[in-house]
Amino acid sequence: MNDQASRPMTPEEEIAEMRSQPRPTLRAVSEGMEKHLYTAQPVLDHGFVRVIDYMGDDAAITQAARVSYGKGTKSVQNDEGLIRYLMRHWHSTPFEMCEIKLHVKLPVFVARQWIRHRTANVNEYSARYSILDREFYIPPAEHLAAQSVVNNQGRGDVLEGEEAARVLEILKRDSNQAYDSYEAMISQDGQAGLARELARMNLPTNIYTQWYWKVDLHNLFHFLRLRADPHAQYEIRVYADAICEMVRDWVPFAYGAFEDYRMGAQQLSGKGVECLKRRLAGEVVTQENSGMSKGEWREFEAVWGDA
Ligand SMILES: Cc1cc2nc3c(=O)[nH]c(=O)nc-3n(C[C@H](O)[C@H](O)[C@H](O)COP(=O)(O)OP(=O)(O)OC[C@H]3O[C@@H](n4cnc5c(N)ncnc54)[C@H](O)[C@@H]3O)c2cc1C
Repeated sequence: MNDQASRPMTPEEEIAEMRSQPRPTLRAVSEGMEKHLYTAQPVLDHGFVRVIDYMGDDAAITQAARVSYGKGTKSVQNDEGLIRYLMRHWHSTPFEMCEIKLHVKLPVFVARQWIRHRTANVNEYSARYSILDREFYIPPAEHLAAQSVVNNQGRGDVLEGEEAARVLEILKRDSNQAYDSYEAMISQDGQAGLARELARMNLPTNIYTQWYWKVDLHNLFHFLRLRADPHAQYEIRVYADAICEMVRDWVPFAYGAFEDYRMGAQQLSGKGVECLKRRLAGEVVTQENSGMSKGEWREFEAVWGDA
């Protein structure tokens, strides 16, 4: 008897099967993205992100732009130049012509941050219908950091020694204890068994969930700009970083423009522009004569130096 037919496929078997059946198509194909298709990229201890489907490529962006600009695009002959022009001038709708559908497995507390990005289509694993797996995110020791003393929304130094060991112990113990209780409550062995939709309320937010997440490239860039940023929490940032690698291969011109004009760029306020001009003219500008608040000045100097 075929072993595979008698049990559900493992994720690896499922991926191998999906990748083993290429079909010819007339649709736009991104060679860079084809290598990622269906393959799960591991993230955190039990999570992953994988591309389930995508639509469009760099050419789809320029094709859409040329419809709107018509003859006006003749001056920008090459696709990369046009894409950089669009990104530079916040002409965003051509980027919406590309879409990506991801399968993501992530801890619930990461999902809570992720779901705030409202411009995607989401379908989540139902813990009303199915039983959740005993899978909890337990941070590796190097990510077990103390509360930051300078940023209420951040981390400071890594915990050490006994404190680190105690925290890890608490996280593991509580996760397992909560899951034992979950199993005990839903069990139908000699009892009615509590509904799954109720039993789940007792589980901690480091338990893993899964969803399909579909978004267009413009809104994906917005998500990546915020979540691949050093200010984002590490646990969501690693997902954003993994997606960045995929997008770089999918639409290399658009990703290059995004890296340059969004990720690598700095925003300057009107006062910031004035201060920079005064500095370039040789004037010594301080916070007191800059017109900026202390916080603004600190952020200004962090980028432009304290000269
Ligand atoms: C470092 C960091 C810290 C954060 N801290 C907090 C926090 O302490 N508390 C908290 O609650 N959130 C927090 N957030 C979440 C943040 O406020 C946003 O909700 C999240 O980043 C999603 O951004 P967005 O609304 O621009 O994205 P999306 O929902 O994807 O929307 C994209 C854009 O579409 C437009 N849009 C979408 N829906 C609407 C709508 N209904 N009405 C009007 N315009 C719309 C907006 O222009 C928006 O910018 C934080 C985010 C980051 C990155």
